[in-house]
Amino acid sequence: MITVEEAIKIVESNSTQSKKREMVSLAKAMGFVVAEDVISPIDMPPFRQSAMDGYAVRVHDSEYYNVLGELQAGEGKEVTLLKGEAARIFTGAPVPNDADSIVIQEKTTIKEQQLQVHDEVLIQSNIRPKGEQIRKGEIALGKGVTLTPAAIGFLTTLGITDVSVFKKPSIGIIATGNELVEAGTKLEYGQIYESNSLMLLTALENLGYTKNEIFKVPDDFDPTLILIEEVLKSKDVVLISGGISVGDYDFVGKALQELEVTQLFYKVKQKPGKPLYFGKKNKTYVFALPGNPAAALSCFYVYVQRCLELLSGSQYAEPTTVDAVSTSKHQTKGDRAQFLKAYYQNGKAKILEGQSSSMLHTFAVANALLYVPVSTDSIEIGDTVQLILLT
Ligand code: AMP
Ligand code: MG
Repeated sequence: MITVEEAIKIVESNSTQSKKREMVSLAKAMGFVVAEDVISPIDMPPFRQSAMDGYAVRVHDSEYYNVLGELQAGEGKEVTLLKGEAARIFTGAPVPNDADSIVIQEKTTIKEQQLQVHDEVLIQSNIRPKGEQIRKGEIALGKGVTLTPAAIGFLTTLGITDVSVFKKPSIGIIATGNELVEAGTKLEYGQIYESNSLMLLTALENLGYTKNEIFKVPDDFDPTLILIEEVLKSKDVVLISGGISVGDYDFVGKALQELEVTQLFYKVKQKPGKPLYFGKKNKTYVFALPGNPAAALSCFYVYVQRCLELLSGSQYAEPTTVDAVSTSKHQTKGDRAQFLKAYYQNGKAKILEGQSSSMLHTFAVANALLYVPVSTDSIEIGDTVQLILLT
């Protein structure tokens, strides 16, 4: 059995970035990684722009100026000032040619087209020079940048509508188990509702992965083999839930072996999620997640998310972690690292009741996983702990 750290390393070193690119509209580009440098097609701002409401002035040796007229944002006409002339101007409007400065309106008085400026005029003040932010032909965003709302806003200010990004993986989710029935139907004795597929699907969607498909299969070797084979061919990543333990009716491991999927690891010294499997066949990645819902979701956040981000070209593949001060005591048992459901607020972490891998009740109100390394025997109140923040 390998450690959490070893397992993470194996995921990281095997998850190679997709070479496939696609053009996406900026409206749909959130979270994608830029695949080619984006070059600015214009100067930004495209003209000398007023940064304030006030008066554009061309200085001379008096504090009085002759006001020619008014310039609103969106003004199409070009105006030129002579010495001693001024124009009323508003934020965003093009600054007249030869204007030396924009004097803010609070520092002026106006009487019958005569402007009086109270302070000394500061040259170039409140003027955004043409191309101040970026010039035409310069790199607006480099390859490898993850698109955020700010990045999308920035590219749109340059008039760009579409961008070349690395393709995100398509993902197949397979839920195994004879006992599982769909929510909304009647539960017979011995049955439970199948929840992992929807949980994983929404976790994927939450991270911006939208090419997902759900499959279900009973605990039977042949149908399991046939389904996994089909999904391996059609998807970039396969997430299998359940059937990976050592029970007589756990057929996933045998099927993966029969299909010649290369096992990269099986079983991690962790709680929850010991029977986690990671493998690869050709270019398709396989995670076989434990069926216990809290274990499956924990493994998703620690390993699957990292793999998917790396495949998508992200440089920030690691989950967001923070240090926090524990407000709870915790005694570890056994020799496995633990991921405990916790609640994080104002730098403090509370370990929640109900940590069983079969229970989602606690996970449902947690906003963090508290990592307890193997080397930690106990957590005392006031100890610094490491958290993975859940989004
Ligand atoms: P397994 O890993 O298949 O042995 O399943 C472990 C536990 O998780 C069992 O109690 C299963 O009933 C439960 N389980 C497995 N798959 C699911 C699922 N898709 N939704 C909800 N519970 C599941
Ligand atoms: Mg099962």
